[in-house]
Amino acid sequence: MSQLKYCQGPKCHTYDTKDRKKGPKDNKRNETRRRSHFYYLNGNACSMICQADWFDVYGSRALDHFGYLTQPNVLTRDNAWSVRRDWNNDNRYAYNYLTEERRPITQQQYDNEQTITEDGRLAI
Ligand SMILES: [Zn+2]
Repeated sequence: MSQLKYCQGPKCHTYDTKDRKKGPKDNKRNETRRRSHFYYLNGNACSMICQADWFDVYGSRALDHFGYLTQPNVLTRDNAWSVRRDWNNDNRYAYNYLTEERRPITQQQYDNEQTITEDGRLAI
């Protein structure tokens, strides 16, 4: 069984729902949600609200830590590739967003995450 973890939303406990209520009748309290799996904030927040709360508090600190863009990212014909599937004939191809070029690829290349590099370059 996977381990339970807490929602990382800093205000999670302030949202008044039944599942957050804990404790005996005379000492009721609301607690941060705890689950084995969450769908938001890369699996670390219980809701879009908690994800947004996290971002409001920590987003700019994350940018300070990891660094801001100081130049624009640029999409050119060299890094505008993705893999696609033609549902009409079930063929796979590499597709260039800018040139609209299509290059046939095999199923194996389609399934291989390294066919297109992290920055959008065609690696075959
Ligand atoms: Zn939450």
